[in-house]
Amino acid sequence: MNNKKGQVQCINDEILEKMQLKFRYKFLNNNLMAVLKPEDYKFLREVEKFYINFEKKYNITHNEDFYEWFPEIGKAGLLTRINHFNNFDLNYEPYGLKAEFLRLLATDFFDPQMTMSMGACVLAVNPLLLHNEGVDVRLKALKELVTGEKIGCICITEPERGSDAVHMETTCDKQENGSYLINGQKIYQTNGPKADWAIIYACSEKNNGNTMAQFLVDTSWEGWNVEKINIPWVPRISLGKETFKNLKVPKEYVLGAPGLGREYLFEGLNLERLGGCSLYVSEAWNAVTHAVIYANMRKQFNQEILKFQGVGFTLSDLWAKTMNLTLALLYISELVDNTLKKNDGILPKAFNLSLGVYVSQLKYQCAKLSERVCYESANLMGGAGVCDNTLMQDLLGISRIQEIGAGTRQIQQYIMSYSLRRLFKLL
Ligand SMILES: Cc1cc2nc3c(=O)[nH]c(=O)nc-3n(C[C@H](O)[C@H](O)[C@H](O)COP(=O)(O)OP(=O)(O)OC[C@H]3O[C@@H](n4cnc5c(N)ncnc54)[C@H](O)[C@@H]3O)c2cc1C
Repeated sequence: MNNKKGQVQCINDEILEKMQLKFRYKFLNNNLMAVLKPEDYKFLREVEKFYINFEKKYNITHNEDFYEWFPEIGKAGLLTRINHFNNFDLNYEPYGLKAEFLRLLATDFFDPQMTMSMGACVLAVNPLLLHNEGVDVRLKALKELVTGEKIGCICITEPERGSDAVHMETTCDKQENGSYLINGQKIYQTNGPKADWAIIYACSEKNNGNTMAQFLVDTSWEGWNVEKINIPWVPRISLGKETFKNLKVPKEYVLGAPGLGREYLFEGLNLERLGGCSLYVSEAWNAVTHAVIYANMRKQFNQEILKFQGVGFTLSDLWAKTMNLTLALLYISELVDNTLKKNDGILPKAFNLSLGVYVSQLKYQCAKLSERVCYESANLMGGAGVCDNTLMQDLLGISRIQEIGAGTRQIQQYIMSYSLRRLFKLL
């Protein structure tokens, strides 16, 4: 049986059996085996085996509070692979963007909402990785996030400042002892209500991005107030609206003083968006895999529905688009990994700048891919695609929001059209 349990069984036993994690992984593996290096394929299999055992061990139905699983997953070194984390003797191998993509693929097949939530923890890891300067409290927070002992969130968006993230209304005021007081409000933070550690951006002068700062905040401090908001498309992800009232941040928790925050916000954006792209493509693979299994088994008019052109050709189209973007992501991930390795883990400024446009192109297409493939796959499965017996229900919901987070579709288009103007001027 597929472990996703709905109220009433709508899909027959035979098809549900074939939709088990191990068979969906097999379809994915047969697609990727030829394009992955042996060591990458080995890692993909390793992550898959972990989740097959995990699902069996706890008889998981995917209705649970997945935040409780983070410590065990973190202990297995599968919460993030963006870095080797040698400074904590974790020595992750493989690591980098490509490893992260493979980790996300296998994790998404297990539980899409959990995978997105993990991604927000990784967003909190990145600034600490770049700006810990060996300070004990920062290293402690970093290790706790990487190992899943603690949960992280990142606070950029505000009720009145979404796409225009640079002109923040949240303020930070320096005190005599070097600490800061933060006042203001943030909204739509993935993991906000569950987070132990938060990365907060605020400006010393309202609406002036040049005065932006970056802080690490322990959410048990006085002045951090959070309300859980409801995004019905992702009911198991905890999203927050946070209000800061004289939230006092000691000076060793100031990752970037006013003036540095804006650069710090943008330096990580490319890698964050690429992580998002991997998530979106993973969702597409998960959905298309469900639909391929279903269409090969479901019979109508005495034939497997895959044999009807309306189904088979549509599915081929979804499959081809998913594969093509997978190849593009593998290429760009490897390019970034090699550049990082050659430059002591820091992307050269010029490279990072030109990467921005490729990332916007990918973010635009990968989020659209997730939206289309998840919807069309469900559509090809008829009632079985929209009932609650499989993870298709989660995929349908989650794929509706990917064009909004991490920079909306229109913002990616804006970046790309601006770049077309710049390229024209070079002629
Ligand atoms: C599920 C989910 C998770 C999220 N997680 C986080 C998180 O962890 N941390 C965090 O800080 N934020 C998070 N966000 C917030 C997200 O990044 C913002 O929702 C996003 O930046 C858009 O901001 P907004 O909602 O205020 O929309 P607005 O910026 O108000 O945009 C409304 C519409 O106007 C369009 N628009 C705005 N400006 C332009 C322009 N210049 N050109 C063309 N069109 C434009 C937009 O594309 C959009 O269609 C999350 C959001 C969601 C839905």
